Amino acid sequence: MKPDTPTNPLLTDASARSIRYLDGLGTRSVAPTASAIAGLKAFDERLPEKPSDPAATLRMLDEVGSPATTAMAGPRFFGFVIGGSLPVTLAANWLAGAWDQNTGLHRPTPGTSFLEQIALRWLLDLLHLPADCTGAFVTGATVANLCALAAARHGVLRKMGWDVEGKGLFGAPQITVIVGQEVHPSVTKSLGILGMGRNRIVKIPVDGQGRMRADCLPPVSGPTIICVQAGNVNTGSFDPIDAIFQRVRTKGAWLHVDGAFGLWAAAAPSRRNLTAGIADADSWATDAHKWLNVPYDCGLAFVRDPEALKAAMAISAEYLPTQSEFRNPSDFTPELSRRARGVEVWAALRSLGREGIAEMIERNCAQARRFAEKLSGAGFEILNQVVLNQVLVSFGDAEKTVRTIQAVQDEGTCWCGVTVWQGKTAMRISVCSWATTDADVDRSIAAIVKVAGGVRGAHQN
Ligand SMILES: *Cc1c(COP(=O)(O)O)cnc(C)c1O
Repeated sequence: MKPDTPTNPLLTDASARSIRYLDGLGTRSVAPTASAIAGLKAFDERLPEKPSDPAATLRMLDEVGSPATTAMAGPRFFGFVIGGSLPVTLAANWLAGAWDQNTGLHRPTPGTSFLEQIALRWLLDLLHLPADCTGAFVTGATVANLCALAAARHGVLRKMGWDVEGKGLFGAPQITVIVGQEVHPSVTKSLGILGMGRNRIVKIPVDGQGRMRADCLPPVSGPTIICVQAGNVNTGSFDPIDAIFQRVRTKGAWLHVDGAFGLWAAAAPSRRNLTAGIADADSWATDAHKWLNVPYDCGLAFVRDPEALKAAMAISAEYLPTQSEFRNPSDFTPELSRRARGVEVWAALRSLGREGIAEMIERNCAQARRFAEKLSGAGFEILNQVVLNQVLVSFGDAEKTVRTIQAVQDEGTCWCGVTVWQGKTAMRISVCSWATTDADVDRSIAAIVKVAGGVRGAHQN
């Protein structure tokens, strides 16, 4: 684009196309059609030699790309654990995109850095975490777990007089890492990246809901990190965090909570009891792109001891104005250059307020129970206690369940994924979108029941 090219028509067109796309989400097939996916071959061009009209590039992106998306932003996508985007957060994302602020350092980006600081303070308040924690806006809960566990590694080794950032782990005191049998793989991946080993961990048995059994905790001594889960990715269950922490708190272990979606239960009065004891942890990881419904990507790490996270993440160089009376975001994140993810978080928190967020989480939890009750009423087995927003449904044996899930995805009214949990194949329904209404739930249930009947009938023939 030449500097004198008018941006206005292009951006107006982008906005019109985006709005059309969003308006169509309620009526289109949630999964892209086979012909839309086949249409992607139009992108398979040779690298152009010459410039062309940017408007034509945008048109192609919309005409070929939009139909080939899955309607994750729509009201009836229940796969994985994926929120939509509240309109105000998408709008804030557009504006912050126009600002194009590299929010690694405060001094050149005072506006976005300050907004992130405010968003962080509000989050600690909303989630009932200690007000003096620090935090980092990162890409997702995977990197949030990584950041928190880097701080943990620093914290437990500093106590032993070992400088892990300076000397690495070569010759360092051994760290014991304790997790539950159903730990999220992003935690074990983070442990691997940090040199603590994906497999060199103590795995505690879990109960019939996937919760760590506190009575199985081994005696704790020496540098120890304990990772608990707030929100099991299959069942939505919470580890008995209070009981676990009471057993190890006095032993000086570092307590980390993976609360990618479950941490938001703290903001919903009827779910808050699930998070008992959580504020006693040393670090927490969560996602804003899941239940807070901000656009991808946005995760959050919170750490009680700011110095531990800073020691693990800060960099310095002569040309970087890191000496500042302000908080430099890059002192707390793996990235130096970064977009200001906190802007959309701020927009969500400011526009919904405490009550609006509680309403959204309560509504999604009630909708998960609605799914469970009605599908159970229709004769299908619900495998988990629906304590939060996750529902596991069996349609019979593994093969029948897999075929039903495929047929549900093909039918297009809604989208749910497959999982294997404690040896059983199940359809996993995750409700965490601001856009989902009870009518969407009922429409999805009707489609699932109808499709399952068809699969059952076909099987009997
Ligand atoms: C989704 C999830 C993660 C990983 O989060 P990303 O945002 O995908 O990086 C980690 N832990 C749990 C419990 C999750 O649900």
